[in-house]
Amino acid sequence: MIHIMKKTYLLFVLTLLTTFIYGQQIKSYDLDVAIDVKTKKVKVKGLINIDFEQQPSISTTIWKNTKFNDISVNGIPMSYTFETDKPTPIIFIDEGRGLIFSNPNKNVGNVPIYVDYESDMNGIEPSAELFTEDWIQIGFYNAWFPVDIKSRNATSKLRISIDPTYKVSGSGKITKKGDVWEMTQPWPAYDNVIIAAKNLQSSQAKKGNATIETVYTDFPEADIQSIMSTSQTVLDYFGKIYPKQNEAYIKFVVKHSANGGGGYNRANFISLRINNYGLSTQKTIAHEVAHFWATGGDSTTWQDWLNESFAEYSALLYVRDNISTKTYTDYIEAYKKSIVDAPAIWGFNRSNNAAYTVLYKKGAVILHELESKIGTDQMFKLLYLKHTQGIKNTTDFLDLLEQQTSKKIRNWLENTLKS
Ligand SMILES: [Zn+2]
Repeated sequence: MIHIMKKTYLLFVLTLLTTFIYGQQIKSYDLDVAIDVKTKKVKVKGLINIDFEQQPSISTTIWKNTKFNDISVNGIPMSYTFETDKPTPIIFIDEGRGLIFSNPNKNVGNVPIYVDYESDMNGIEPSAELFTEDWIQIGFYNAWFPVDIKSRNATSKLRISIDPTYKVSGSGKITKKGDVWEMTQPWPAYDNVIIAAKNLQSSQAKKGNATIETVYTDFPEADIQSIMSTSQTVLDYFGKIYPKQNEAYIKFVVKHSANGGGGYNRANFISLRINNYGLSTQKTIAHEVAHFWATGGDSTTWQDWLNESFAEYSALLYVRDNISTKTYTDYIEAYKKSIVDAPAIWGFNRSNNAAYTVLYKKGAVILHELESKIGTDQMFKLLYLKHTQGIKNTTDFLDLLEQQTSKKIRNWLENTLKS
């Protein structure tokens, strides 16, 4: 028994080390990207720097309809496996397939891998990403580049070429050199979102040390102004709860969507789908901005509640303290009704269809209940400490809660998460 426990413990420690300290990592992308709007093909050539940390291989995910012309190191072809016959390795990328690079030299850490491939984006589901003549948005969710959800500190430099009637934006800093758009991400990230449309427009505002840029195409000017001012109010408000963002630059890309809201958040970058500006837009903006702080939990497991429930709860706090208490209470009541039969958060299977209800709504209701037990001041302090202490799992959060409140409150939350 003791022997088994020791072994389990050792395995656990090794897993942690492998994942967080000695894990093989993508360090940087330096790629030429040619986008053909008509044929929906994306041609990519360039270097991907991978630190194998002396591991035999690294697993990445790439769009299923991809043809490789060359994968080599210093001119010598390297060994790789493209798992077209297996399902996607990442639940968020339905049409992704595993692309495993074998380490060509076990004694060397950093390996500059030259890639030359072509992805056919026909058949891409119009969800987070899109490939239409009106709006091209490619990134992590359709894996136009080899993505690795564990490589969160990659920098990138992309040179993007496209039909000259299109303008390009994306998750990085954009400059145009001749006919080529250069996008750089000098900050740590795991995504490279490229956006292209005819008549892309941009509007900028400064708020303290923050620059807020909004990029859009088919949106009424008045709505863009409302989005800008909401973003500023949201940043101001969260600045009172959470430590101030060091990053002085935030870019919102706003796309009109008849089906309504949604979005995602990356380093310094927020993608929003909005029908028209209204209450739900304000909450969506607040939710996405809250992710600058509500982050750290493993988004592929139930620990994602540490991201999503906290972002949604923070968004509701914004609604309560900047719109009205009544609107906040209405949201909480509506969420309570929708979670009556929802499964427990604890151990929840992230790929279950109820993910949105459980990890966003149920978690937000539980945090609302926690606030009514411990008080607003204590709750805000807890949110602040969760972020500054970089809490990545629920047990650590429960430890923090117990230390800040009591064993009784800790047990209450643990039991509530389990029911
Ligand atoms: Zn979220």
